[in-house]
Amino acid sequence: MKKTLLSSSLLSSLVAASATVAMFAAPTAAWADAANPKIGFSIDDLRVERWARDRDFFTAAAEKLGAKVFVQSADASEQRQISQIENLISRGVDVIVIVPFNATVLTNTIKEAKKAGIKVVSYDRLILNADVDAYISFDNAKVGEMQAEGVLKAKPKGNYYLLGGSPTDNNAKMLREGQMKVLKPYIDKGDIKVVGQQWVKEWNPSEALRIVEDALTANNNKIDAIVASNDGTAGGAIQALAAQKLAGKVPVSGQDADLAAIKRVVAGTQTMTVYKPLKLIATEAAKLSVQLARSEKPTFNGQYDNGAKKVDTILLKPTELTKANVDVLVKDGFYTQAQISGQ
Ligand code: BGC
Repeated sequence: MKKTLLSSSLLSSLVAASATVAMFAAPTAAWADAANPKIGFSIDDLRVERWARDRDFFTAAAEKLGAKVFVQSADASEQRQISQIENLISRGVDVIVIVPFNATVLTNTIKEAKKAGIKVVSYDRLILNADVDAYISFDNAKVGEMQAEGVLKAKPKGNYYLLGGSPTDNNAKMLREGQMKVLKPYIDKGDIKVVGQQWVKEWNPSEALRIVEDALTANNNKIDAIVASNDGTAGGAIQALAAQKLAGKVPVSGQDADLAAIKRVVAGTQTMTVYKPLKLIATEAAKLSVQLARSEKPTFNGQYDNGAKKVDTILLKPTELTKANVDVLVKDGFYTQAQISGQ
């Protein structure tokens, strides 16, 4: 995935600047509802911990800006997501914000939305081959680098297993690119041997458990490190390791700072996770959506080529989290100390 970073200016100044720039573009369907825009939020899977938090932060921020939000969860079904988006189009929303289940199947649905004068925002995951107006995410390649670096620090040599994300999620590929950027020199030197790799369907933790069980069996338990792409799949991997009394001995990475993962990081069974402040992405996405609905010009700090166009992007910075700095989460109000230390 080609990425062009235009500037690394702080998001706050970026957003402040954007608030003052209004573009008086030709009236669109959205323009008519500028004061109280209607926003559809189509989320891949609300059963996953982080997305429910994204929804809550997004809705609160958008409502503060005068918008009304309609939320839909596709529960990991590409067909359901397409019909939910079609439903939002016929409700006459001004903007549709999408966390795609499958990056590659929304081209025609988005064409319909655009024809109806609706703006489309790709949220966290990039929608490929489609005319989306904007993309907002954390730097996923950087997240992948952090995951590989975290595991590498704990185990600089040995047999590595790469547990990828969902094959339908473009982030899974960006994460892998970041991971490989860090691991490649060590693989080339012969310090690291990749003994196996799998994509985990739908990011499903039970699927991750099964994959790692099989990998341990196939390698006579000789796996020294697991680069897992998020906390849910890390949880599955650690369960498989625990059954072989290897939890805490084999470093495992993750991302999302899920509460269960933070507890594992504190307990020492998960090496690291990556903290992505969900309130920040959700709030910025809400502002971005309302700006698009009002035909104002948002400020971006990057572009990604999605196969159809260079998509204007707001890219946010992730933070590497280990046992040494979990207190960041309490300082940031992501969790209370009681939640982290609770049983
Ligand atoms: C997100 C991760 C999340 C995963 C599974 C990815 O696209 O970036 O934060 O853990 O999807 O829902």
